Amino acid sequence: MFVKNKTKPWEFQEYHFNWPISSKYEVVEIHNPIPLKDRVHWEGVIPPVDTLKVIRPSRGAKEYNWKPFKKEGAFLFTSLARLGEQFSESEVIGFTRHFGLLGIATHWPELEVYFRDCDPLVFVEREAGQAAKLLNLYQAVQKRNLDCLRDRVQVVLRDTTDGPMADVLIDGQGVYVWPAIKPPVTENIILKAVLFYVCKEINRRLEGRLTIGCAEIVQDEKGFKVLPGMKCESLLTAAYVQFRDMVIRGPVLKRCKYCGALFEPSRENQVCCPRLPIRGTDLLEDKPACANRAYAKKSRKNNPKKKLKEKRS
Ligand SMILES: [Zn+2]
Repeated sequence: MFVKNKTKPWEFQEYHFNWPISSKYEVVEIHNPIPLKDRVHWEGVIPPVDTLKVIRPSRGAKEYNWKPFKKEGAFLFTSLARLGEQFSESEVIGFTRHFGLLGIATHWPELEVYFRDCDPLVFVEREAGQAAKLLNLYQAVQKRNLDCLRDRVQVVLRDTTDGPMADVLIDGQGVYVWPAIKPPVTENIILKAVLFYVCKEINRRLEGRLTIGCAEIVQDEKGFKVLPGMKCESLLTAAYVQFRDMVIRGPVLKRCKYCGALFEPSRENQVCCPRLPIRGTDLLEDKPACANRAYAKKSRKNNPKKKLKEKRS
């Protein structure tokens, strides 16, 4: 019998993730989230605010297991990045409904004292923003687009006893553990430094946060096959595993024609964000969510014009 090889490079069939997801989420405000005396301790991690918006499962919401990484998981990182490019509360809820909570609070265990199972919205925003930045940097390297990097990459020359040396800064941050560069700083050096930075950022988020093991036994005509599994400490970790795979495989990213977000195409002629699976089915949406939003915007824009024209004629 002919066995169709279903493995596509953009799918994450080799990994099996499980993640609890709730049927409903809500955004709530926490007043005085961090007592005044503790604020210095959390400087740079939690903004010193009197109220903090957090997103959490609604009371009475059902929790079920999410097993995403067959189709759906492939969109997690790019969806997070899209959220970072056009951040809004409704988009956050939409993202969470689809993928679950990022679980960022667990990255700082002590934070749970304050937030327990809630994940602060501000962290979603920060992480989504960072995902967007990294995806943009990665695309610029792939396309060798130095214009795109001009605003974000800075080369600083300094004199040392060994002569002039160059430091590469990205978004004002040094590219750490980077070998000393002697000027002139070529295009290639800049591109390599950016990619190096992207890899370091991925490593920073993965270090100590996942476990690799065996996940599932499947049987086909040839016999049993054991699939590798990966246990992630949070959804954010899963997203970065995905980004890592993307970077290692080196697919060329595209910009969506509707919303302008970066996405990983599964076909050569794909022009917009991937359609997400409809929950609980193997079916995909008719159109990506951003196409529907773009259509709604366009018709709102066009309708008044139409009326105007009708009046004139
Ligand atoms: Zn889109």
